[in-house]
Amino acid sequence: MKSSVHDVIIVGGGISGSYLAFKLKEEFQDILIIEKSKVLGGRLCTKPVGYGMADYGCQYINPKSEELISLVHLLNKKSLLKRIEIGPKKHVYISPYGMNKIPQYLSLGIPAVTNSFVNKITRKSGIWEVQVGSFSYFSKRMILTMPIKQISSLIEKSLSAEYTLPTSNYEEFFTATFLAHRACSEKIFDNSDSLSWICNNKLKGLHNNENVYTVNFPPQLSSNYKKLDVESREKTIEEILNRNSFNNIKNLSIHYWKHAFSTKQDNVSHFFDENTQLGICGDSFSVGQVDGAIVSSNKVYRKILSK
Ligand SMILES: Cc1cc2nc3c(=O)[nH]c(=O)nc-3n(C[C@H](O)[C@H](O)[C@H](O)COP(=O)(O)OP(=O)(O)OC[C@H]3O[C@@H](n4cnc5c(N)ncnc54)[C@H](O)[C@@H]3O)c2cc1C
Repeated sequence: MKSSVHDVIIVGGGISGSYLAFKLKEEFQDILIIEKSKVLGGRLCTKPVGYGMADYGCQYINPKSEELISLVHLLNKKSLLKRIEIGPKKHVYISPYGMNKIPQYLSLGIPAVTNSFVNKITRKSGIWEVQVGSFSYFSKRMILTMPIKQISSLIEKSLSAEYTLPTSNYEEFFTATFLAHRACSEKIFDNSDSLSWICNNKLKGLHNNENVYTVNFPPQLSSNYKKLDVESREKTIEEILNRNSFNNIKNLSIHYWKHAFSTKQDNVSHFFDENTQLGICGDSFSVGQVDGAIVSSNKVYRKILSK
């Protein structure tokens, strides 16, 4: 057997991959996370804006499943999550240092290679080979955690075996982060006809001196903006922001979400093939979103241990 054969390779360092690594690290010595971005976090993502910061993916956690409730309890005790009130009798959990601190905490102590896009996976003589460009990693078990469309296309171009995987439809839209003054009374979370989501990250509880905003544009408007060149898109977006009472806008940064989140999903809970030790988890399973990611990771964890 090759000396550098890992026990488990997890592709993707979002909440599902990092939670799985967190659970597995008691049982396995040699786990590796491979992540395409420069930092871990996936859609629990935070970026600097001026001297402050903004969550620009998932803004809060509102746990429903037993598995996520118990993780939230742990993270709350570690001060990584804080309960806030966002409406009459409505409480959710935010991360005061940014949502990406959650996957980063869960994956502590696990080696992770970042900036590494997995473009092919193959299996020979009972061992998985994972290709990142011309470099290969090897592993006994292979876990994929990306949105299911990306997983399906990776499997299709890599493997001859056919697997029955669930389907999932994701919303796609633009998100913008920026510093601004807003000439109206504010709520932590708000919306308008032209902005499906407005979040003041400072009011939400992120440690910011200034008002740093995250706004999402409705899918239909986003698809119109997608057709514009970068300069016209920025101009149009600034105009919309001005019309929504944002002034003196600075550090504007725009991100397109191809797979933001799915709604009203109720898929199978996870995927695990015992013969090949291929597991798939993430928010394409179960009820989706962070609950689906955690429930499916937990199921895959149990399947890995059951052998
Ligand atoms: C704007 C927005 C708002 C949201 N609001 C909420 C909310 O209110 N409540 C809620 O519960 N959820 C919300 N979500 C959804 C939630 O963020 C996701 O469901 C959850 O973070 C998914 O985690 P994951 O680990 O399954 O996937 P991801 O976080 O997407 O992790 C997968 C990782 O795989 C990496 N990757 C992909 N392809 C490759 C490759 N080929 N090689 C290597 N790495 C790869 C990605 O970079 C990523 O880091 C929101 C999402 C967005 C974008």
